[in-house]
Amino acid sequence: MASLDLLTPHLGKIKIPGPNQLIYKDECVYSFDNPESETGLYVSLVTFLGFGRNYVEQYFQKTDNAVFLHIYTEKKPVPEPEKTGDGPEKKITRLAIGVEGGFDPDSGKAKYTYTNHYSVVALPGFHTYPWPNPDLPEVVRKSVQAIIDAESPFKMAEMAALEGTWDGETREVSVHAVNLKQLDNGVKVPPSGWKCNKCDLTNNLWLNLTDGSILCGRRFFDGTGGNDHAVEHYRETGYPLAVKLGTITADGKGDVYSYAEDDMVEDPYLADHLKHFGINVQQLQKILSSLVVHGRKRHFTYITVKVI
Ligand SMILES: [Zn+2]
Repeated sequence: MASLDLLTPHLGKIKIPGPNQLIYKDECVYSFDNPESETGLYVSLVTFLGFGRNYVEQYFQKTDNAVFLHIYTEKKPVPEPEKTGDGPEKKITRLAIGVEGGFDPDSGKAKYTYTNHYSVVALPGFHTYPWPNPDLPEVVRKSVQAIIDAESPFKMAEMAALEGTWDGETREVSVHAVNLKQLDNGVKVPPSGWKCNKCDLTNNLWLNLTDGSILCGRRFFDGTGGNDHAVEHYRETGYPLAVKLGTITADGKGDVYSYAEDDMVEDPYLADHLKHFGINVQQLQKILSSLVVHGRKRHFTYITVKVI
């Protein structure tokens, strides 16, 4: 086991998730890696976002969040029962499904057992601590146990959908979020009293997350709306992400638009991106309507099967 001293500098940032915290332990937020992947999944003990091996270092470098729960799910085929003699194990006497002695619908299908292997991992060196582990600091033990015990967000979204409390809107994580360029131009955004930098509009304003410019939204066909200053700014600069002012909440979420991707998107680093311009939100937390990240199709398929 790696030295526990390596964890000490990070203990202050580690959080114990509450019952409503969403925990992304099913799939990497940027790729299709999941716990069954060869290299498993890394779940941050700070933000509870999940990352595959190819993205976890990038995330660490961006955020300095160093401690993860590593989940690897081992999938093993169930061994076929030994056969006696040369004949089939069961002689099919009647062609009937579900009748004793009849055709077994599961025969010929591979069966698997799933075993979860957990460990605590500290970057950058991928130092590994076995789990369960009474020697780990208390905050680490509690955080890890809560992650293991938590319902997955996919399941929570499914339940919410079935209860009619999910509005069906999904937002993909923007590809521009993780390495978003933010200019050190000294711009500080006040908490209120905003105005478009190019006209007199004071509502429908978008804060560009690269340079902190505040500009008005699109003009609609009927002449209402803004004066297109935000989208024109994107065409001139290529700065891809903007958050709508007035939608940012204390838990670090907001309506983020990606001009480059031409869609509303999820920015998992919104709190950090806002901090750059002097806006301090509390803690990164995702919302139910943006739950289903890459799993959208799978999710809808599953719901359809269950409802019909
Ligand atoms: Zn304007």
